Amino acid sequence: MKYSIFSLFQQAFRDQKDWTPAWRDPEPKLEYDIVLIGGGGHGLATAYYLAKEHGLKNVAVLEKGYIGGGSVGRNTTIVRSNYQEPGNIPFYELSLKLWEGLEQDFNYNAMMSQRGVLNLYHSDSQRDEYARRGNAMAMHGVPGELLDRDGVRALVPFLDFNNGRFPIQGGLLQKRGGTARHDAVAWGFARGADSRGVDILQNTEAKQIRIENGHVIGVETNRGFIKTKKIGIVAAGNTTRVAETAGLRLPIESYVLQAFVSEAIKPLIPCVVTFGAGHFYISQSDKGGLVFGASLDFYTSYAARGNLPGVEDTIEEAMAIMPNISRIRLLRHWGGIMDMSMDGSPIIDKTDIGGLYLNCGWCYGGFKATPGSGFCFAHLIAKDETHPAAKALRLNRFETGHVIDESGTGAQPNLH
Ligand SMILES: Cc1cc2nc3c(=O)[nH]c(=O)nc-3n(C[C@H](O)[C@H](O)[C@H](O)COP(=O)(O)OP(=O)(O)OC[C@H]3O[C@@H](n4cnc5c(N)ncnc54)[C@H](O)[C@@H]3O)c2cc1C
Repeated sequence: MKYSIFSLFQQAFRDQKDWTPAWRDPEPKLEYDIVLIGGGGHGLATAYYLAKEHGLKNVAVLEKGYIGGGSVGRNTTIVRSNYQEPGNIPFYELSLKLWEGLEQDFNYNAMMSQRGVLNLYHSDSQRDEYARRGNAMAMHGVPGELLDRDGVRALVPFLDFNNGRFPIQGGLLQKRGGTARHDAVAWGFARGADSRGVDILQNTEAKQIRIENGHVIGVETNRGFIKTKKIGIVAAGNTTRVAETAGLRLPIESYVLQAFVSEAIKPLIPCVVTFGAGHFYISQSDKGGLVFGASLDFYTSYAARGNLPGVEDTIEEAMAIMPNISRIRLLRHWGGIMDMSMDGSPIIDKTDIGGLYLNCGWCYGGFKATPGSGFCFAHLIAKDETHPAAKALRLNRFETGHVIDESGTGAQPNLH
């Protein structure tokens, strides 16, 4: 059923009785052309673009839990393409362009809101660094604006500009950045893929990838063996566990990242604001809650749970730029698992095993990458060729040394 103002009116007069489920709940078939392991944003987007762009519909998405239960429904919803490294900018810009037409494309309201992303700087050297980033973006045709203190004050006057340790000197603004409703993105891609014939198999866990003569032949699941010649691993925080079943060790470590939502208040924050002297980011949802987060827990884990040290660290950073929110009540916080790569940038590539493809290493930035990642991964799986926008995101860069170290912190995944 196509969603539109007319279908809304029609259903209003029919007592809302004709709505159909947004996607089916099929039984697994014995064989598919392509099996994707992971029904998060990236797996669903890949399935959607495989069907839509390449006409490949005999595809299954295996999801061990429910759609939207992974990081796609746990993130702080920030979308942007203000990257600096040449390998990253074209990819994230492709993704942002896809975001800009996504709701019309998949006929679903994902509440995409280009309200702007403002990265604050707090020292002269950081200003220079942000100017360099803005110039790198401009060279790739991605607009950004370097604001001085007055420019920031005009946009977000309530910040603590004179904080003794971290006075705010200015910021880099990407106006096209913003937020989108995270779980609606998963639902939109799920519905779009399903309506084109893709089978979305919830509560279906991939247990063991089967390989014969160096080529995948299928996957064992809790619902039986599924035969296939092509498998895409799109399991985000669980990538290393799934890849291990194919005998692969990857340059990825998993960590927990937490997100926080406050009670709803009147409009306070017009755009996404990030604190440059630490790692804190905040925006306000359309319902009025403040949505924010900070750094990872610094030990590896597969547990998608929050904890109190993370709360303390995040609230300390919040107080450094916005002491005025100190008495707002926290409503919820939770954790999600992050697949942190050794250089902080993602991997979209084939493996040495025939028919086994890899999409991982999304670190803090995978939500904004969702459409771009699905688009490029679908291209790779369908044509066996890397999409030009993802040409730097290869696995062998860790062998050749062509790493894409956006934050310049070296091979320490928890610092990216
Ligand atoms: C708290 C938090 C805040 C974040 N904030 C942002 C942000 O503001 N902006 C941004 O760009 N990014 C952000 N991210 C990162 C982003 O959410 C992730 O990088 C991205 O969602 C990962 O891709 P995904 O959606 O496919 O992952 P997921 O939704 O985690 O999908 C992977 C799926 O694979 C499934 N799976 C795993 N193993 C198996 C198996 N064996 N068999 C079957 N299924 C399996 C899991 O159940 C899961 O549903 C944040 C993440 C967190 C946790």
